[in-house]
Amino acid sequence: MNISRRGFVKLAGATATCLGLTELGFNLAPVKAHAATLKIAGAKEVISICGFCSCGCNIVMSVKDGKLVSAEGDPDYPVSEGALCAKGAAFLSMHLSDHRLTKPLYRAPGSDKWEEKDWDWTLNRIAQKVKETRDKDFILKNDKGQAVNRLESVFQLGTSQMDNEECAVSHQMLRSLGVVHIDHQARV
Ligand code: SF4
Repeated sequence: MNISRRGFVKLAGATATCLGLTELGFNLAPVKAHAATLKIAGAKEVISICGFCSCGCNIVMSVKDGKLVSAEGDPDYPVSEGALCAKGAAFLSMHLSDHRLTKPLYRAPGSDKWEEKDWDWTLNRIAQKVKETRDKDFILKNDKGQAVNRLESVFQLGTSQMDNEECAVSHQMLRSLGVVHIDHQARV
């Protein structure tokens, strides 16, 4: 019989627990009834990959009625063996959090209020400000007359919630503008 490590752990744990408790005279009916009410009961398990760093840990996503109900480490994944760091462990709450922003917010200069904006307005505004700044500040040559083609007045701080591919695209876009000040909060 082919059985994965995850399957083996579940099977061995369930078998040993049931045998042991039954032999000791425990009534397992309430335990089984409780298990049936667990949020992952009847859920479909889908293996996904955490994109927050190059470890690429597997995450077991439990999906029920088309909704994500649980996200846990995968014991079958050889690098992390079921463990997730703080970023991977927060995957479910990041997905479901009431604090998750789903629309761009803008605070005008001098204002103390955030306004909801649509993406067209937001992207146009960013493009306009970057262009103005680059036209004004772009440095073609340094003091020695050497070509440098850089822009020092724009800084980008990435987020740990960007996956590897988003970071690569973002980095290429910034370098093409001449931006040299780039950092990324990917440290745990
Ligand atoms: S961010 Fe954490 S959970 Fe995600 S792949 Fe990297 S080590 Fe694994």
